[in-house]
Amino acid sequence: MRVFTAALATETNTFSPIAVDKRAFEASLHAGPGEHPATPTLCTAPITVGREVCAREGWTLIEGSASWADPAGLVARTTYEELRDAILDQLRAAMPVDGVVLGLHGAMVAQGYDDCEGDILSRVRDIVGPDVLVCAELDPHSHLTKKRAEAADFFVYFKEFPHTDFVDRARDLWDIAARALKGEIKPVMTVFDCRMIDVFPTSRQPMRGFVDKLIALEKSEQGLLSLSVVHGFMAGDVPEMGTKVLAITDNDPEKGAALAEKLGRELFAMRGTTMVAQVDEKTAVDAALAAKSGPVVVADVWDNPGGGTAGDATVLLAEFISRGATDVAVGTIWDPIAVQICFAAGEGAEIQLRFGAKSAPDTGSPIDKRVTVKKLVRDAEMRFGESFAPFGDAAWIHFDGIDVILNSTRAQSFDPSLYSALGIDPKSRKILLIKSTNHFYDSFSKIASEIIYCSAGKPYPNRPAETNYRKARKDIWPMVENPWGT
Ligand SMILES: [Zn+2]
Repeated sequence: MRVFTAALATETNTFSPIAVDKRAFEASLHAGPGEHPATPTLCTAPITVGREVCAREGWTLIEGSASWADPAGLVARTTYEELRDAILDQLRAAMPVDGVVLGLHGAMVAQGYDDCEGDILSRVRDIVGPDVLVCAELDPHSHLTKKRAEAADFFVYFKEFPHTDFVDRARDLWDIAARALKGEIKPVMTVFDCRMIDVFPTSRQPMRGFVDKLIALEKSEQGLLSLSVVHGFMAGDVPEMGTKVLAITDNDPEKGAALAEKLGRELFAMRGTTMVAQVDEKTAVDAALAAKSGPVVVADVWDNPGGGTAGDATVLLAEFISRGATDVAVGTIWDPIAVQICFAAGEGAEIQLRFGAKSAPDTGSPIDKRVTVKKLVRDAEMRFGESFAPFGDAAWIHFDGIDVILNSTRAQSFDPSLYSALGIDPKSRKILLIKSTNHFYDSFSKIASEIIYCSAGKPYPNRPAETNYRKARKDIWPMVENPWGT
């Protein structure tokens, strides 16, 4: 057997001001054929798992290139076309192949391409013809379009959010692909449109139970190969945005359709209940100031660079300043210009500085303060699980009892070590103001006396009923109360 694999992925928040070019991929991951490292990043596990599977089976794995850019705004047309065409050329050169196993994200949008993955998959199908197996692993924060479903044999999505299972799901993908290539099964995909859009963290109820149920069904149901929930991605203004349930059966589309519909309707019944409750900035600051002990962690949940925003909103910080709050440490506010000015001024300098809120509307106003530059660190990084997440050249500034870390590479606040990287002991501060929706929880909950989830300003289109979509369908919940019309 000859199997081709490659990866091309990013998550596009079409409302984000941060445009993505080739350099954004090179900064995150850009590996030529055969050059992918031994450890996978989020959307490239089909390559590393494929190496194991093909070695075991004695098959030939032909590796194409692998590119991943951290979530941000629209991908430049020329960048997308260049990366796509490189993979298509590699595939042409690899022909004939028996299968194509791709790592994609599912929410990539480029200038002129609302459905990048549908475009890639249909071009792959054109090259390999109707009889070669084409499949992909994707992120559930994606858009499952008809074009994609028609071009591929099957998809496997991460089940967990946070996405702790991307390697396990790549194993599922390869397991089904290998059995199909050996002629043991015939994977058939059926999709149920839940006519909704929401956010579904799986570390808490009710989604925890729902995902456990999917996993149990995969084991117990005869002829069922895989179940996925495509959460959808509300920051992608594309025509087929929305939540879907996907069932892969061994050539039993009726069974798949019935299961997908049953689960999809259960999911619809959970709408609006899956997220942690959030408070506005005034309530968040009240609660933080009232706390008896620290550190109180205040999460600015929607200004999360992990969801493609700039990460420079100042709404919450301005509220703390207006109340005269002290003993507050902010980690972080993205402002490469302010960082550059701090580096030029040097450690210990006292300067007039404007920082934050320069990138997008509805994220507050820049803060003007006379600040002391306390510490400067080149190429700063924080822990993220077993690895490290870079946040670029960074400056710790201090004014009026408040400490702020300014960073130059956008990064969500994964771990309290972002403070220690600049010499601040996070446990010594009463209030830690951070930017993250969900990923911060594991590490920050270990030191927090309390966690406050705050929705401040409008850095992200997190209220779909109010979002001014130009392309996304408006016949789904919560844009309409009853999308079933019955
Ligand atoms: Zn995701």
